[in-house]
Amino acid sequence: MPSGKVHDGFTVATALGAIPLCGWYLPPETRPLAWLMIASYTFSGIWLSSDLDVDSSAYRRWGPLRWLWWPYQKLVPHRSWISHGLGVGPLLRVAYLLGMLWLLFWGVQLALRQIGIALEVDSRSWLLRASDWALTYHKEVMALTVGLVAGGAAHSLLDMLHTRFKRWF
Ligand SMILES: [Zn+2]
Repeated sequence: MPSGKVHDGFTVATALGAIPLCGWYLPPETRPLAWLMIASYTFSGIWLSSDLDVDSSAYRRWGPLRWLWWPYQKLVPHRSWISHGLGVGPLLRVAYLLGMLWLLFWGVQLALRQIGIALEVDSRSWLLRASDWALTYHKEVMALTVGLVAGGAAHSLLDMLHTRFKRWF
């Protein structure tokens, strides 16, 4: 596979290249959505990299929080469809990260309850609020999703090209 630096460089270069293109070719009212998409694309490529399925620079980038990705790395075989599949890879990582954060929050809540501090959190009302928000800002959510998927797709395409080139030469 190409190194983490190659993936990062490719993500940043394509994102930076897309910014002026949006400015030139898109009508002004659609530009904020395009920029949101580019930001999500960059986040997907750099922070939610497909190579979180292996001990990589993307994994180490998470610093003290990298343990969040440890089970993912152990459970998901490197370059399998779960991590590198077009579309599914980044969406599953978002779902995984949200799940881990929820578990973390749940653990903290439980620990606090042991020492007599009860947090008043109604997860059902939070879910309702989140789905309300997603419906109100459906265009933004769509732009974020497209950016996430594109970030993962760019990674997988680069991996594929790299393997092809290695076979040819
Ligand atoms: Zn990869």
